[in-house]
Amino acid sequence: MEEGLLFIVSGPSGAGKGTICSELVKRTGISLSVSMTTRKPRPGEIDGKDYYFVNEALFLKTVSESGFLEYAKVYDHYYGTPKAPVTTRLAAGLDVLLEIDTQGALKVKNEWPDGVFIYILPPSMRELRRRITGRAADTLAAIELRLGESLKEMERIDQYDYCVVNERIEEAANSLAAIFTAEHARVGRGVRETIQAYKEEIQCYIHPSI
Ligand code: 5GP
Repeated sequence: MEEGLLFIVSGPSGAGKGTICSELVKRTGISLSVSMTTRKPRPGEIDGKDYYFVNEALFLKTVSESGFLEYAKVYDHYYGTPKAPVTTRLAAGLDVLLEIDTQGALKVKNEWPDGVFIYILPPSMRELRRRITGRAADTLAAIELRLGESLKEMERIDQYDYCVVNERIEEAANSLAAIFTAEHARVGRGVRETIQAYKEEIQCYIHPSI
């Protein structure tokens, strides 16, 4: 069976990755990987849906058991992608979406060079600051930290295959969906199996001499 495709989405906090990724899930049925983190849940976040919220001991135990596809420390907290659910789904032919930071994305790239790496940019730094400030959950110090980190992260954009500027959610989601469709249409992604199937299908119709 042909493996599913692995899509990796990164971008600064406040760029709107979460909303755009949810839209891709709705439109395509792609399976979103749920990360494990040592950060505390924000109001409204659900354990097992937004993240698996765990303590540091459990996180580090998972690291020692090689249970992560990748993990990284982001803003003083650990975040990691549980390996088994991703590899199992890919092997079953299902597409998987990771929404992770650039450190993690670059680690994944070493293991899955065939992954599709997408970076979400805000329309401007001013707009990014406005969006982050609007989130009551973050303190001013946390906001400054995030803006500084965002700029550092953006320096790594060359490592990605695509970039989507999120000015309006609907348009950005359309772009992401277009990337999804284009990647599935790439020659090399399972096209050999299709041609083989055509050959078998036509066998009984063509003259043996052809
Ligand atoms: P937040 O705390 O705002 O939910 O996420 C902070 C950052 O951690 C975001 O850039 C998010 O993409 C990243 N992140 C979430 N899950 C993972 C993960 O499993 N691995 C890595 N490397 N980064 C993650």
